[in-house]
Amino acid sequence: MERTLSIVKPDGVARGLIGEVIKRLEQNDLKIVAMKMIYLSLAQAQGFYAVHKDKPFFESLTNFMISGPVVVMALEGERAIARYRDLMGATDYRKAAEGTIRKDFAKEIEKNIVHGSDGPESAASEIGYFFNRLELVA
Ligand code: ADP
Ligand code: MG
Repeated sequence: MERTLSIVKPDGVARGLIGEVIKRLEQNDLKIVAMKMIYLSLAQAQGFYAVHKDKPFFESLTNFMISGPVVVMALEGERAIARYRDLMGATDYRKAAEGTIRKDFAKEIEKNIVHGSDGPESAASEIGYFFNRLELVA
């Protein structure tokens, strides 16, 4: 069993795609073990994306992430990290496989609907960034 962090980004929330994302998680045996809607501060968004702080898109990305509320979830399942990345599709929606969330809904490389952890270390630290142990069920 593995856990991973999922975020429905501000574009996904604003476009009414929370339910669509959750439906795909549930249909693919990714169990939601924690969930909340939050409005990130700039400092919180910068902290979350600290690994990208030297990238040219960092300022734009962090401002996008505070442009509206987000839905943050911890997911659990067999190979949850990789299986959720497969459901999301490639970062660039133009390169994402058919039937993935990003292929089906994203319109820009930055505004790509969802976030997902990229490995066991980032999953653990990202879940811990948003949830304490009491908030994780199961
Ligand atoms: P992923 O979300 O697929 O793990 P990254 O960790 O590489 O992708 O990037 C984090 C987020 O930064 C992406 O989801 C996207 O919103 C944004 N991003 C990545 N690359 C670019 C880019 N070249 N231009 C603009 N935004 C980008
Ligand atoms: Mg990433």
